[in-house]
Amino acid sequence: MEFCAMLVVTAPVGLALTNKASASQAAKNIGSARRPSVIWLHFQDCTGCTESLLHASRPDIADLIFNIISLDYHETLMVASGHQADAALRQAVNDNNGKFILVVEGLIPTKDKGQYMKLAGQPALEVLRAIGSKAAFVVAIGSCASWSGVPSADPNPTGAQGVDSVLAGKTVVNLPGCPPNSYNFLSLVLEYTAMHRMPALDKYNRPKFAYDRLIHDHCPRRGHFDAGRFATTFGDESHRQGWCLYKLGCKGSVTHVPCSTLCFNDIPDVWPIGIGAPCVGCTEKDIAFRVPMFQTVEIHAATPSDSIPSINTPIGSIGIAAAATAGAIAGATVTAAVIASRRLPDGKGMHVVEKSQGTAKPKDKNIDPEGR
Ligand code: SF4
Repeated sequence: MEFCAMLVVTAPVGLALTNKASASQAAKNIGSARRPSVIWLHFQDCTGCTESLLHASRPDIADLIFNIISLDYHETLMVASGHQADAALRQAVNDNNGKFILVVEGLIPTKDKGQYMKLAGQPALEVLRAIGSKAAFVVAIGSCASWSGVPSADPNPTGAQGVDSVLAGKTVVNLPGCPPNSYNFLSLVLEYTAMHRMPALDKYNRPKFAYDRLIHDHCPRRGHFDAGRFATTFGDESHRQGWCLYKLGCKGSVTHVPCSTLCFNDIPDVWPIGIGAPCVGCTEKDIAFRVPMFQTVEIHAATPSDSIPSINTPIGSIGIAAAATAGAIAGATVTAAVIASRRLPDGKGMHVVEKSQGTAKPKDKNIDPEGR
């Protein structure tokens, strides 16, 4: 119930679960539903996606596996190993043939008939094809399983590929992110459990409820971008003041994901830009592990901020409550709006410019905090 209520308040626009049902209705549906079987396989990965899931608290991992899903196989979390684990996998697949959700973490090596990774003596490629063909649908969790990741970076010696390249013709829902926010996975599972259907997907098979907006449109530093105030060196005054990270290579202007509204580990501000690191575009197919981390990107469709109060508003006229209300109306989180209003420039050295519209490059009106 707490998790459903949290989703109603904080979910991005378009989350079907919260559009179609109140928190109590969603919780009731989930409570009466049969727990879906989930089989979770690891391939070329760092286990960061699992780590992210372990840090969720609403619901936490215990609540998830005891009350919402039946986690029938997960190499990292299960007690069994070796032959016992292999037997558990075969039994889980046979008992739930055609009904289980297959979650895949990591890339799949395909070069030389997949011989660079084996599970119980069998190439991982064959294991995935055999089990994937029996799943109700497949979730590629993380950027690796979706399409990229470190193992597939040039020169990609193992021929590592994402799940949908290996399971052609199968429904594969991509949840990219390095790591993905666990609430995107939990929301997907809850919608399937409560509503018995898949969420609407975008052209990359990402659920629209989580990937239909740019970070840039609800970034707490957006006011500084609009004002032409950019951090230029890590650790300098402009960086410490929380100015826009575009010139340090931030890819938030072309990256679709709700990082700024959901954060990580349930701690406000814990996400890359929140701790002062530029977004690397980990949810975009052609950005992360393809474009150098600190290289700037072209902004093709700059849109007005969803949740950040305009920098043209007279100083002092935006209260925290008003900013929060505006944020909620726009469908973003209350938290994001509060953070935004907290970080508005105090007027000292503030440079007021018009908000970006249409195709644009950021205005190069960087203001030296030292007044030089
Ligand atoms: Fe935020 Fe990055 Fe956009 Fe700057 S460029 S406003 S830091 S998302």
